[in-house]
Amino acid sequence: MPLPILRAEQTYLGLIDEAERLPALLRAMASEGKDDMMAGDELPEVTLRRLEAWATHEYLGSLHLLRRADVAFAVEVVLRGLLEFYAHVAWIHHGLPGDGTQSPRMRALCLELGIATEANAALKKKLLGWGAFDKRAEAAATQRLADVNLLHSAEGCSCKGRNWRGVLPVLENLRRQGIVWPQGLWVISSAAAHQLLPGRVEVDLGDGTSDFLSIAAYQWRAALLEYVIRAFGLAGVRILDMVQSAESAERLRLWCEHFVADERLKSAADGRLDRSAMEQMSAISATIRRGHPAP
Ligand SMILES: [Zn+2]
Repeated sequence: MPLPILRAEQTYLGLIDEAERLPALLRAMASEGKDDMMAGDELPEVTLRRLEAWATHEYLGSLHLLRRADVAFAVEVVLRGLLEFYAHVAWIHHGLPGDGTQSPRMRALCLELGIATEANAALKKKLLGWGAFDKRAEAAATQRLADVNLLHSAEGCSCKGRNWRGVLPVLENLRRQGIVWPQGLWVISSAAAHQLLPGRVEVDLGDGTSDFLSIAAYQWRAALLEYVIRAFGLAGVRILDMVQSAESAERLRLWCEHFVADERLKSAADGRLDRSAMEQMSAISATIRRGHPAP
């Protein structure tokens, strides 16, 4: 791909390139000292790895969206998935007050039961209208649900499995602990997914009329990039605390802090990149006008 002409664009894309390293970094750190990148079949590690694998798609997908000014607004919808990932991981990590003596292993099993239950409901009821349906998939889902059920009850838990309803109480609990941003962001992201934020791409022209934005400014994209990093990265920090060590978790936390303190991100977040892009485009268009005088 040729280098973009605008210096602001080069700076911003350099940041996105760097952000793309995070999932591989997390996986490398999580598998340090193990036989391979995907080693570790114990709970909660196996559950955390499955959550991470799915969230990695949402994370890298978010970065793809943030690369392009004309689709970046859609990140607000994808963010909800990343926040739910963060909430599930935070819950497995420390649970909620009132969860009693449950361990991370137990909580991972409660979530596995919820996942297997949802997969069965989706295959056997909710997706029936989709027509052609593989009986082997149904058999596998049924078997999986039976296996997980057995493991779960053997641990002494009588819950019906953890589902999406468990997410908001975790975010509210984080808020009470002073980690405020995930819940507010979850509300905004939910509103965006429910199509209740069309105003996001509408701009007041100041003369009683409005128009629709066709591109997202660097300033807006930088703010969202920071949240995408925090949601995925801080979930990663908790994963490392569970499957490696507090030191390993701290190293990843520092990587995230370093990223959000990066001068390039700050220059995007405070509007400098947008101004720089406008100035350079004006200069380029002035040069073109000089070189191609009107007849
Ligand atoms: Zn349970």
